[in-house]
This record gives sequence, structure tokens and C-alpha cells, in this order.
Amino acid sequence: MKKLVILFFLFIFLATFPGLADKTVRDPEEATHILVGEVAEVEGYYDYNEYGDYLIFSRVTVRVDKELKGRAEKFVAFSVEGGEVGELGLRVSNTPVFKKGQVHKFYLKKLNAVYKLIKQEKLQPEVKAQTVCCLTFAKWPSTTATFYLNPNCNDMTSSCTYSEIDLGSGSWQPVFNLVIGGTTSLTKVRQDYQNIVFFRKVKGGSTIAVTYTWYNRTTGIIIEFDMMFYDGWKYFSFNNNCTTACNGGFYLSVIAAHEFGHAIGIDHNDCPTSIMYPYADYCETGLVQSDDRACAATIY
Ligand SMILES: [Zn+2]
Repeated sequence: MKKLVILFFLFIFLATFPGLADKTVRDPEEATHILVGEVAEVEGYYDYNEYGDYLIFSRVTVRVDKELKGRAEKFVAFSVEGGEVGELGLRVSNTPVFKKGQVHKFYLKKLNAVYKLIKQEKLQPEVKAQTVCCLTFAKWPSTTATFYLNPNCNDMTSSCTYSEIDLGSGSWQPVFNLVIGGTTSLTKVRQDYQNIVFFRKVKGGSTIAVTYTWYNRTTGIIIEFDMMFYDGWKYFSFNNNCTTACNGGFYLSVIAAHEFGHAIGIDHNDCPTSIMYPYADYCETGLVQSDDRACAATIY
């Protein structure tokens, strides 16, 4: 009986959360340390990640108040992608933003004396100025942005990939116009004033795609975005001439619609019907909803 109950809940869990739009959540059991503590310091710096992307990272130092699993020093530190250096800020869609004074429950994995963040849970809920169905973090100075697509996707031809990306980005119209300026062969994220969309030939754990949005800290104006899809997932098209019917994967246009929301300054929210809800089900069909366009219209 006990086994059946466990299997039942495992089934419900798998049926409900086969994948995530871009947020990485791993099994907390993987954590060597579970700690409660306050963010004591956040320091931004430039570095390369394992894929050769040149990014702003944040070194987050935590004052440990409670050890729920594993023994830790009084202060522990880890690095995450995204952060601020000088005038420039980088928002990474699958990484939380840490601020000094926040209290979190941190799930960390210690390997070779280096802590890596697996996930975190906020303990002090922040007072939100906006409703949880619409959160924004920055905006473009106009309502048009042009991007370049590297259409090299494992699952469909370049022209089909182009159409799917165009369908996803186009679903933010008429509030915001995302225009494909042409194709590119670039496959790395860097701040070069060129907005690019590309596929990375690896699996991304539970992450499907990540959008890197660069902005000016003082003005809150977005200056660039770069968007990366993990090509280890199976992508499908609504067009029968492009792919077979969706099975065990995602409609590329649906994931793109979500990612382009980040590219124009919109954060995740808690509304399951919104395109900016961070969890995606296999073969989900919804693109940008009228409430999402209304959200974009609050800044455009
Ligand atoms: Zn997202």
C-alpha cells in the first residue's frame, strides 16, 4: 500500500511537472548542505561560464544562522550568473536575484571546497508593488527590438525554426514588436549590443531555455538580450510539414513566447494561465495571453 501511495504521488508529480520553462530546480536531496542564513554581501564581477559565455556573475556571501543539513562555516559563499557591475546589470531568467539582508533557505552542494547553489527559498516575503500576475524589471526605450537568429536546431529545418521563433516573438504584438533582422552563426552570450537567439547542443537539466537581459542600472533601460535554448530537449512545430505531432517535448513557439517576455523586461509570475508562469508542461499550446499583453502595456 505504502509503495502504491508513493508511486501515485510520483506519477502525479511527473505528470504535473515534466519540465520547466527556464527555472532550474533539482532534487533537494542532491544538496550536501541546507542552510538558513542572511545575505551579507553581493559582489558583481565579469567571468566566463563553462560554455564560454562572457557574463556578469554575483558572488553571494551568506551569514549562516541555522544548519539544517551538513556542517558549515560561519560564512559561506557561492557564485551565480547575473548581477551588477558599474552601470551595467544582467538579469538571467533561471537565476534568482540576491540582495543584502534577504533571509533564505539555501540548498547547496559542496564539491572541492566550492559551494554551488542548487535552489533557494525565500523566508521573508517581499512586499510586492505589483500583483503577482505581472512583474517587470526593466524596459526598452521604444516598442521595437531587432534580433538575429541562429536557426541551427536539431529537430527542424532552419526555415521551420525561423517560423516558430517568429510565431512566439510575434505573439507580443501589438504591444511590442520583436523583429528578426536576419540570421547569425553566433552561439555565445556576451554584451555586444547584438540581440541573438541560438540553440546550445547540450541538455540543460530541468531548464529548457535561458534569456540574458542586459540593462542600465540607473535608467532601468534594457540595452540587449541574448536567448539560448537547450537543444537536448525535443522541439516541435504547430506546422505538420515541419515536425510530427508534439510528444515528449515542447512547441518551440510556446517556449520562445515565454523567453521573449524576459527579453522585453517581464519577470516570472504565479499565475498558471500566464505565459510568464515558470513551469511548462509537455506539448503545452498557449502563447502570449491578453493578460500578458496587458502586463507588457504597463511599461510600453
Ligand atoms: Zn522564464
